[in-house]
Amino acid sequence: MTEFIIASNNQGKVREVDRILNPLGIAAVTAKSKGITLDDVEETGTTFAENALLKARAAFERTGMPAIADDSGLSVDALGGQPGVYSARYAGENATDADRIAKLLKNMEGMPKEKRTAHFTCSVCCILDENTVITAEGHVYGVIAFEPKGSGGFGYDPVFIIDDGRSFGELTPEEKDKVSHRGNALRTLYEKLEAALSKS
Ligand code: IMP
Repeated sequence: MTEFIIASNNQGKVREVDRILNPLGIAAVTAKSKGITLDDVEETGTTFAENALLKARAAFERTGMPAIADDSGLSVDALGGQPGVYSARYAGENATDADRIAKLLKNMEGMPKEKRTAHFTCSVCCILDENTVITAEGHVYGVIAFEPKGSGGFGYDPVFIIDDGRSFGELTPEEKDKVSHRGNALRTLYEKLEAALSKS
């Protein structure tokens, strides 16, 4: 397996990226597992794509290994797209997933189901070498639940409801990968990577 440094400490994300890239012969490994500490990157971008590039570039420069980063988040239509690029920081720096979900549900109190539409976005950026930067983006559309359901996944999964009425927290990992923003982004990235790797 070729190892790519994944620029994230979010175990939920690391697991999903690794599992989706494995069939391509790529293992997503953390810098920490290589004994390298990645400094926190300030996510100063205004888009998911900009933040993914900032994180991938920092990891590539620090480790000298191919690096991959994912910047993702949840956009709720009735909240003007919030929390969006601030999804991880929505309830402050040291908040938990439960804190973020509680804040979201509070901000949506009283909103009827038809106004609870939302989508996840995942932007991925992979830097293979100084001259090869590959990017992709994926989305998934759904509605925000009235209360959390299921204990699978991570982040806002228990309150994100897809077409069949289940929350992301109620899906198996494989079911989530098939429809998720990250699955969609990584499948596109996968095709682009396959093409780039076959040329080199
Ligand atoms: P960042 O990409 O590290 O800035 O953080 C993205 C944040 O968006 C995560 O901490 C989660 O709160 C949320 N998020 C991104 N992807 C997912 C997902 O697949 N399920 C649930 N929450 C997600």
